[in-house]
Amino acid sequence: MQNNGKIKKHIPQRTCIGCREEKDKSELLRLTAGSDGSVTPDESMRAQGRGAYICKNVGCLEKAIKTKAIDRALKLSSGKVDCERLIEYFKVNFGEERKAD
Ligand SMILES: [Zn+2]
Repeated sequence: MQNNGKIKKHIPQRTCIGCREEKDKSELLRLTAGSDGSVTPDESMRAQGRGAYICKNVGCLEKAIKTKAIDRALKLSSGKVDCERLIEYFKVNFGEERKAD
């Protein structure tokens, strides 16, 4: 019996908590909640515990913060998310959205 051609790999899809779009897991960043309620970007994508996925752009992060999607996805009591640090991380790593003016 012959194997006809390529074996299709199933790419896991995850929903961004900012724009609610489904994307390949590899295109998203995983966020995890620490025991102290802090939210940390999980660059290894393998950290233990609850995770939330988000696009690698500041716009989606801001949307997720505004709608408290992070709090909900990670089951945090709202107000505990360290937004400033996350926004800073996104800006440094994924660039700030620039508007031509
Ligand atoms: Zn998004």
